[in-house]
Amino acid sequence: MPRLLSSMLFLLVSFNLFAKHDVIAHRGASGYLPEHTLEALILAHAQNADYIEQDLVLSKDLIPVVLHDIHLETVTNVEQVFPKRARDDGRFYAFDFTLAELKTLRVHERTDSNGQQVYPSRYNGQSKFRIATFEEQIQLISELNRQLNREVGYYPEIKSPQWHKKHGADISKIVLDILRKYKLDDANAKIFVQCFDFNETKRMRNGLNAKVKLVQLIGENDWGESNSDYDYLKTPAGLKDIATVAQGIGPWIPHVLEPDSMTSTGLVESAHQLGLSVHPYTFRTDQLPKGITSKKLLDVLFDDIKVDGIFTDFTDTVVHHLQK
Ligand code: CA
Repeated sequence: MPRLLSSMLFLLVSFNLFAKHDVIAHRGASGYLPEHTLEALILAHAQNADYIEQDLVLSKDLIPVVLHDIHLETVTNVEQVFPKRARDDGRFYAFDFTLAELKTLRVHERTDSNGQQVYPSRYNGQSKFRIATFEEQIQLISELNRQLNREVGYYPEIKSPQWHKKHGADISKIVLDILRKYKLDDANAKIFVQCFDFNETKRMRNGLNAKVKLVQLIGENDWGESNSDYDYLKTPAGLKDIATVAQGIGPWIPHVLEPDSMTSTGLVESAHQLGLSVHPYTFRTDQLPKGITSKKLLDVLFDDIKVDGIFTDFTDTVVHHLQK
């Protein structure tokens, strides 16, 4: 190849002009319909998501269900259906209910401790939404893919593995067994498995022999998501550790972007040097940084900071942005 042409190609690649950015539907099309329901999945699929996310916790009969938390009352009417089934802390745990019981609950928009909708402008109707299992979501995505000739990927998250372990349940093993049943425990399949707990990410790769691509989520130490030291994981040495077992990181947007100057923190560059993909969370048009428009934030994230994909409650907004 002539030298000029090859150096031009090199420049194009280095400036990411050929890059395909992944739009990850965070809890489905959760900006429009109650999170993690089959209906929110279908809408995200119709909005052309590249991946649809499933947060996973276990039921009493050890079935992975798609819920963001081990608790139920923030997204369902459990306190009305089973008023006596709270634990001493006043909370209702998915793990204390069989799948048949969970299926009787209605899913609603996420509410805070006062029962008010966390995002007031979102879905306010009365349709009867239900909790879905992980297998139901796999089957629905794969059927829609077949019928619409698309390849929307899966993006499950192992939730609270240590909490499940304390209750005698190995959620990672159960989820990996399901992935193997559907031939999804495969580095070449369109799926990432994510977890906040770095010890569990390592155990999935080395102890449970996972073949699937893994993403290490990065939070703040004071969130209590796991015992992992996120301040360390964000350092070059921490990222190097991550790169021994995972293919990507899922940082919080402020970890990649200095909010005041809207410039890079350097995390994306460090991760890319190690070959790690970077998928920050969560882009929400109804929770933007003060004075920043959707367009500005997406321009900076994709064009300046060069993230590889993004978790969003608003798949349609991000897909539309990237098409321009
Ligand atoms: Ca998640």
